[in-house]
Amino acid sequence: MALHTFDGIIVGAGGAGLMAALQASRPDSSGKSPRIAVLSKLYPTRSHTGTAQGGIGAALGNLEDDKWEWHMFDTVKGGDYLVDQDAAEIMCREAVETVYELEHMGLPFSRTPDGKIAQRPFGGHTREFGKGPVRRSCYAADRTGHMILQTLYQQCIKQGVTFFDEYHVVDLLMKEGVTCGVAAFQIATGELHTFHSKAVLFATGGCGRMYKITSNALTLTGDGMAVVYRRGIPLQDMEFFQFHPTGIYKMGILITEAARGEGGILRNRSGERFMERYAPTLKDLAPRDMVSRAIYREVQEGRGIDGKDYVLLDLTHLDAKVIHAKLPDITDFVETYLGIDPVKQPIPIQPTAHYAMGGIPTDSDARVIVDERRSVLPGLYAAGECACVSVHGGNRLGTNSLVDIIVFGRRGGRALREYAMRAPLTSLPADPEGVTKERIARLRQGKGSETVAKIRSELQAEMMEKASVFRTKENLEQMLGIIRGLKDRYTKVRLQDTGTIFNTELLDAFELDYLLDLAQVTVTGALNRTESRGAHSREDFPKRDDANWLKHTLAYRKGDQVELKYKPVSITRFQPQERKY
Ligand SMILES: Cc1cc2nc3c(=O)[nH]c(=O)nc-3n(C[C@H](O)[C@H](O)[C@H](O)COP(=O)(O)OP(=O)(O)OC[C@H]3O[C@@H](n4cnc5c(N)ncnc54)[C@H](O)[C@@H]3O)c2cc1C
Repeated sequence: MALHTFDGIIVGAGGAGLMAALQASRPDSSGKSPRIAVLSKLYPTRSHTGTAQGGIGAALGNLEDDKWEWHMFDTVKGGDYLVDQDAAEIMCREAVETVYELEHMGLPFSRTPDGKIAQRPFGGHTREFGKGPVRRSCYAADRTGHMILQTLYQQCIKQGVTFFDEYHVVDLLMKEGVTCGVAAFQIATGELHTFHSKAVLFATGGCGRMYKITSNALTLTGDGMAVVYRRGIPLQDMEFFQFHPTGIYKMGILITEAARGEGGILRNRSGERFMERYAPTLKDLAPRDMVSRAIYREVQEGRGIDGKDYVLLDLTHLDAKVIHAKLPDITDFVETYLGIDPVKQPIPIQPTAHYAMGGIPTDSDARVIVDERRSVLPGLYAAGECACVSVHGGNRLGTNSLVDIIVFGRRGGRALREYAMRAPLTSLPADPEGVTKERIARLRQGKGSETVAKIRSELQAEMMEKASVFRTKENLEQMLGIIRGLKDRYTKVRLQDTGTIFNTELLDAFELDYLLDLAQVTVTGALNRTESRGAHSREDFPKRDDANWLKHTLAYRKGDQVELKYKPVSITRFQPQERKY
């Protein structure tokens, strides 16, 4: 057994993990700092944060008047009032100073003619509490996430942060209710390593690979969420999964909302700008849940292109110079994947699974909380897409994830640092790798004829059919049965690769196991929530029901079942209202 000891472990090297690492390992005035290591299954700069295109929202007011209160209002309303408003207030206030901090680290933002950070409009972001669109999204062309990731990684290297690249974390270690490390595979060798530490922060990103059509990278299999769930920690609000309106038809590859921020328009088969009917004020820049539903409705009512299940994103009326300067990467994608020049031809799009609003419940210092009374689990932290703080409620606004990862990555890193400086190191449980060894042995000895790839693609196709933009009791119940069947088949998986070196098949098997658990949590939460709110839209319960459902779901693992509890929403400034745009 390879054993490493650190004060703090950060799992994940996307925006949230790198920001946390930078803060956690910062030396104090006497040069003292905790010993921090970052473990990542990917080389850090390959993390999904690097694909974020559109921008990061902050009320800098560089091009017109803007206030963090307006940003907070938009976030709360966009999230259909399931947002914890104390957390949203922190996020929208601190967004401003954190964006400047990134600028001072050297992030090459696009600029206004007078040299300030450039900003553009984005879905659901408004001035004066909903009067009209506002330019709030700070961007670096359509490569904002790439620039964030590169900037933070460079800063981490400069500060001497220790990285374990291509280490796949498979278990959280705890003793008597206190965090004491993680178990991980070294992908290159298949060797198991124990990382003994006082504190662990999960920043493992999303789980969009649960669905067939998704904007998410192959690696977004919800590992961190599932690993803690298996250790008895609940997951919050998993039934809220965002579908981004504009994925490339059949592929799901994202066309950023910035394309509509720059003036792009959605059209149906008769060329109609249909969003005017659904959201008269914000039109194509309404929040994503509404636009995705509108596209599904157009298709259901026969107004998809050629009667098929897609519509068009039209940029042809925009100046070619704007498209080339502000949307260069998506121009490239469209040319590569569709052979289309977006300057001349509209782009076929359909909604694509994009973002998990739910995740590991935390407080506003990224400390993991384990029940409805908000009890903290000592030494455990989560930030970024795998966490649920909850600033996105039922539906996240565009640009608010980059803000979330940076603001709460930063706060989490600071809180972890403070804890790791004072807390003692809890001893390891006996046989810390035991559970993992058993899982591997079971997979290696599998005698059945099932394959990971087959079960995974069935899960993804069925989830897309039965638990995506619109849901019904019937479909969700069927889906739960399907998941049970797939879980049963999973026990009969037989691995072809019995080796240890770069055994990605074994890792795929672990990841599928996570996706099956997370799908079960998502569908159970969705079945129980008999209302429509944000991205969770029940055809059989089409209205929001604040009297019964203005509360967060907490899902616990109980054997092979999911047990649900509920937690109140924090409401400070904005009382729930009808959501019109
Ligand atoms: C195509 C696309 C475009 C987007 N555009 C925007 C945008 O313009 N604005 C915006 O606000 N949001 C956008 N988003 C959302 C946003 O980019 C993500 O939610 C955010 O970047 C997630 O950051 P993260 O740090 O939480 O996780 P990630 O960046 O996904 O990083 C996860 C990290 O965890 C590691 N990891 C995972 N599992 C394990 C494991 N088992 N062991 C070890 N390491 C592990 C990975 O190696 C990786 O380093 C976009 C998302 C996509 C998919």
